[in-house]
Amino acid sequence: MNSHVFDLERLSGMTHAKRVARSLWQPESGIQSILFFGQEGAELQQLANAVAMGWLCKAPLAEGACGECASCRAMRDGQHVDLLRVSPRGQGNFIRVQDISGGGDQETIPLQSFVRTRPLMARHKVVLMEQVDRLHDRAANALLKTLEEPEPHVRLVLITHYPSKVLRTIMSRCSCIACSTEVDPDSALGPDLRARVRAVFDEAAALAPHGGLRLSEKVRALAESYAKSKDVPIRQAQGVLLQEFGQWLLHELPHAPHAVERAVLVHRLIQGNANGATQLDALFTWFLQDCAQELHQKELSA
Ligand SMILES: [Zn+2]
Repeated sequence: MNSHVFDLERLSGMTHAKRVARSLWQPESGIQSILFFGQEGAELQQLANAVAMGWLCKAPLAEGACGECASCRAMRDGQHVDLLRVSPRGQGNFIRVQDISGGGDQETIPLQSFVRTRPLMARHKVVLMEQVDRLHDRAANALLKTLEEPEPHVRLVLITHYPSKVLRTIMSRCSCIACSTEVDPDSALGPDLRARVRAVFDEAAALAPHGGLRLSEKVRALAESYAKSKDVPIRQAQGVLLQEFGQWLLHELPHAPHAVERAVLVHRLIQGNANGATQLDALFTWFLQDCAQELHQKELSA
């Protein structure tokens, strides 16, 4: 096989995101809009390119675009009629409403005009939007219309390093996937410890909103037992558990990007030598206060 231009395997970390990406170009995935977010340093752009290429490719393989069809060749040459790249520009570095709905002096075709027509050579029409956090208010509202009822041939891949600055309504209309450059918890945690971690987080619902310290105590105890069993520093163990926590959040509370972002922030602080125990206490207290209501509603509707 020829080497792929946008090969997922070349990207470091992001195991979960890469797994999601591979499922996207299967016909049964049903996902039309996806938002990848992750701290700076995560190779979001390359990931988004790989997803776009998989969606454009005429005959994608299990691991991604074939790299050889006319569509893949066009992508490799940097010119693809069925791909629209949108990124902030101009004064203030914004994505403006003209970029979405037209009517201005934009250099490229507005997004809404682009998605209206069927693809010329690829399987889909694909929009790749960078720095979604730089959407101007009116542009965000215009984008919402496209996200609400995308034509069947349309696919959108959005990326941001700042999910908390993205409108909640936009997040809720996309599949939101956290991208981490850290190790995959699947391979880092043994199955037994993984089950115990899940059990602790599942208790979170019952503890909300005042059980933050109890939750962090349990997580600290788990981190200590993990550190001992793997003979790694406690800081590293806490980082692995925080990663697991982020995965749990995404699964249980997909619309709580703020909580995920905080988990990422605390992870960074701990790796940067802040006091891990204090940071964990703060994180779980925050988390339970913030998410108490959402968890409560989830319980009511269960
Ligand atoms: Zn191809």
